[in-house]
Amino acid sequence: MKKISPEILINQGICPTCYDKSHDHIVFGDNKDKMLYENELFECFLVSNPRAIGHTIISSKKHYKDMLEIPGDLCESIFLFAKEMMIILKKVYKAESIYLCTMCDGPMNHFHLQLIPRYSFEKRGSKNFVKERKEYVEDKEKIKKIKELLNNIYK
Ligand SMILES: [Zn+2]
Repeated sequence: MKKISPEILINQGICPTCYDKSHDHIVFGDNKDKMLYENELFECFLVSNPRAIGHTIISSKKHYKDMLEIPGDLCESIFLFAKEMMIILKKVYKAESIYLCTMCDGPMNHFHLQLIPRYSFEKRGSKNFVKERKEYVEDKEKIKKIKELLNNIYK
């Protein structure tokens, strides 16, 4: 199946994430295998073109332009979840640190946080936010472990 580029949709005022979900993942590809957690407010999944192994996104289900638009209680639950997720990622991937960034921009967005591991062989600092994207390699054992640890906190 030929993929549609997100830019084409964005330029037409269409949300690529929602379009992808309602059109059999024609934009980003099926990410069912990468899904780590989901509830009615947000979802958490491994990035299909990660900047580091274990690069994870937590994304709101509703549209919010950026953090300025999200309600306080959603902000609280997403950030508390992010903290637990960072502890889990650090443990499972044996990362030295987990970086967090959010840079939602443009009119049509799902508010999302990016969690990017920094490993002991990598230098500290902001360059970790723009590490070259890598090919996603599935690690079923690690995914299983993350889900188990999450399951202890979020039923
Ligand atoms: Zn959307």
